Amino acid sequence: MNDKPRSFPLPLSSVVDQGGKKPGLFAPVATPQTATQNAALSAAQHAARPAAPRAGPAARPGASPSKSHSYAMDRAQPVAAPAPRQNPLVSEAVRRAMVARVAKQGVKDQQVLAALETVPRHLFMEEALASQAYIDASLPIGHHQTISQPYIVARMIEVMRNGGTLRRVLEIGTGCGYQAAVLSCLAQEVYSIERIKPLHELAKTNLRPLRVANLRLHYGDGMLGLPQAAPFDGIILAAAGLEVPRALLEQLTIGGRLVAPVGARAQHLELITRTGKAEWVSETLEDCHFVPLRPGTA
Ligand code: SAH
Repeated sequence: MNDKPRSFPLPLSSVVDQGGKKPGLFAPVATPQTATQNAALSAAQHAARPAAPRAGPAARPGASPSKSHSYAMDRAQPVAAPAPRQNPLVSEAVRRAMVARVAKQGVKDQQVLAALETVPRHLFMEEALASQAYIDASLPIGHHQTISQPYIVARMIEVMRNGGTLRRVLEIGTGCGYQAAVLSCLAQEVYSIERIKPLHELAKTNLRPLRVANLRLHYGDGMLGLPQAAPFDGIILAAAGLEVPRALLEQLTIGGRLVAPVGARAQHLELITRTGKAEWVSETLEDCHFVPLRPGTA
């Protein structure tokens, strides 16, 4: 991890698989996720006072305004890179410390850790919360949703990647776009779907200054997947359903891996590998806590 680039975007060549050691998978690790409490806190805060000014490009003079599109599939548009923040609470050193903690919790995939170190998580949250961006917690992003805990983001990608090359990946639940940005460092093509329109727009705004050329954001019901872009060799769900939607299983390549939180109050991560045309193998991993997967759009 010594000679990694220090700024986003990474050249893909620096993070795609270079035949590194396979990470040890499925080691049980405690994950004290606080998504529900944080989402509730966010709802209370939003009800109590007007929204804090947004972090990132939307708050900066000269940033491109959010474009409205008549088509569903959007590409993050490149604009000028953001000016570096002065706040030491969001410095690269703090980000490195966060990655070290994630590694200590059991994430071994060096490329996943490098991607986590590359993506400026504070640019995906409100200014008022940016100083907490590098603690290992899920945090509110509005609309009763949360940005996922860095550990769980890394863990899910590690399990999905399994030390291999990711060509085409689908994420269900873009939220603020953080995990999509991390995925874009590790896969050749990333598609991400969000069902809440303002969050889809927020992710576009957050991602625009990062110039992510290999990421497509889609507004819609992720439970249906994205048949027009399928098959995917990896699928990640960032929201928990009682079961994994059949449509998503059908959109995996043979050999493809899907990682999803499953359950209601008690949830666990599930890894489903497609082993044949009509054959899938499922494995139960560690406990977790995610916001619910919901049908339709809002
Ligand atoms: N990936 C995010 C986590 C977002 S939280 C991150 O980087 O931190 C989970 C998101 O899943 C929420 O924004 C929620 O609106 C979304 N979601 C829930 N059900 C969905 C569905 N059926 N289709 C698409 N998105 C969904």
